[in-house]
Amino acid sequence: MSSSACFVTQEATKEILLRVTNVCGECYDDLCLGDTVHYDMQNYRFLCDCCQKKLCSMMNKECEIIYDEVEPNLFC
Ligand SMILES: [Zn+2]
Repeated sequence: MSSSACFVTQEATKEILLRVTNVCGECYDDLCLGDTVHYDMQNYRFLCDCCQKKLCSMMNKECEIIYDEVEPNLFC
């Protein structure tokens, strides 16, 4: 289980999908009701599960993305 202080993980609700976003902020994939979504507190956007995992693995403890070590390919 990958959890991170940089994200708030929650289930996509109607309210999120209608009022905030219905696409991932990174890959623009559709988010669906009941999907696991992650609020990115650094960039104020919602991410899909896949992008959150990728970003998480590139982040240091300060939630900064380290681009040098990983190819910056964030598409799922
Ligand atoms: Zn995504």
